[in-house]
Amino acid sequence: MATTTDFPSIEEFAAGKVVKQEPKSDGQTSKRKRKPHIIAFIEENCTGCAGSPACVEYCPVEDCMYWVPDADHPPFGRIEVDPLLCIGCKLCTSKGPDGMFLEGCPWDAIELVPLAEFEATYGALPY
Ligand code: SF4
Ligand code: SF4
Repeated sequence: MATTTDFPSIEEFAAGKVVKQEPKSDGQTSKRKRKPHIIAFIEENCTGCAGSPACVEYCPVEDCMYWVPDADHPPFGRIEVDPLLCIGCKLCTSKGPDGMFLEGCPWDAIELVPLAEFEATYGALPY
């Protein structure tokens, strides 16, 4: 897992201070019951799919995947994953039910990272 320079801190996520722009994932809103064994991490080579992220619609958790605009290169941006919301379901890297997401991210920018590896880099998750 490569580190990204502008990834928010765990404290910012926990405090709800991370600004999440559309497109964002839709779905379940209940707090996860336990920490997952793996979580999705978006690498810096995410292109944002030129403003139409192919991955976001497959995430079943509300506000888990969200848009981060590139301040230096509008209207471009990228997707990030909230590590406190991701349930490690892998749907963002899997074949979609309608065949539209056959190989997962076209740029291989989504990595499913063991939680221990993520926490060693970004700090322990509170839940
Ligand atoms: S993670 Fe991949 S599929 Fe998702 S927006 Fe970035 S480049 Fe597109
Ligand atoms: S692993 Fe599942 S919950 Fe996590 S970002 Fe991907 S689709 Fe969303």
